[in-house]
Amino acid sequence: MAGVAEGCVIGVDLGGTKLLAGAVDEDGTVHHRTNRPARGLDQRELVEMVAHAVEGVRRSVGMDVEAVGFGIPCTFDARTGLAVQAVNLPLHDIRFADVMAERLELPVVVDNDANCAVLAEARAGAGAGCSEVAMLTLGTGIGGGLFLRGEVYRGFEGGGAELGHMVVDMDGRPCQGNCPNRGCLESVASGTALVREVSLAVARQPDTSIGHAMEAGRELTGPMVTEMARAGDPVARAAIETIGRALGVGLANIVNIFCPQVIVIGGGVSAARDLLLDPAREVMLRRALQPGRDEVRVEAAVFGAEAGMVGAAMLARERPSGVPSASPEGSDLAFLHREAE
Ligand SMILES: [Zn+2]
Repeated sequence: MAGVAEGCVIGVDLGGTKLLAGAVDEDGTVHHRTNRPARGLDQRELVEMVAHAVEGVRRSVGMDVEAVGFGIPCTFDARTGLAVQAVNLPLHDIRFADVMAERLELPVVVDNDANCAVLAEARAGAGAGCSEVAMLTLGTGIGGGLFLRGEVYRGFEGGGAELGHMVVDMDGRPCQGNCPNRGCLESVASGTALVREVSLAVARQPDTSIGHAMEAGRELTGPMVTEMARAGDPVARAAIETIGRALGVGLANIVNIFCPQVIVIGGGVSAARDLLLDPAREVMLRRALQPGRDEVRVEAAVFGAEAGMVGAAMLARERPSGVPSASPEGSDLAFLHREAE
């Protein structure tokens, strides 16, 4: 177990279908990763599962853990510390930091999962050295994170920045989960949209390797589509290209509004790399304004699907103001008393 230095923290990234946790040492190296399914649980079961996963990592580490950082796919109200609304998980109005600090008897800090991901990529990943970074995490849904003027931007009361719920089609299909909107980017460019796209295409064109794999009983998932696309399956490739073009519309909006130096694409779907990013870049270049469109880089996350976990660990180490945190003795209300700017 060489390398787990003193000052170990645990980072947890909770997604719509799975949890990823790991211990991160002072050099930023991840140890003792664990994966847990998160589907089909109610809020109480979800909290139990998360606590068990953290306890498992903590036992594996075998030494003191200083704090735990959680990235969860939820909006926050930083005035009250409440995790308010999750689109793809049964989390609603829960003081997640307080609950976990009491349960784990450790200091806890909590932020939106994509805010964690953009922090990791801006500090040490695809946006290293940049002051203006935007991030989209393409998984069950689409998370959004903004790093502006060298800091994570969370909006007035902490509920930002849900870039996945920007509308790209005003009269489009209803968004998924608990989102009341229609035509959100998430409804056309997430992993869920990719699977839907493939499933419709296979019905029309069953005689390719992905159709045969499904007929043989393989479950249609995002990673399976990516694998088939890389192996040259035309249906899988076309579906990823469709998702990529939809993503490009979202990128054009981000470029026009924020003019970032880099937009980082993370989450499971980003494993498709240039099969996804090339059509996205092409559409963005056709639609966005100068000079932003010519300056911006569109890159896959350096930390891949681990960006959220790594960023959550960074938060655990720093426990900044502006995000809900708690210690076993109770809420750390520092975040409630920020100086008005
Ligand atoms: Zn939505």
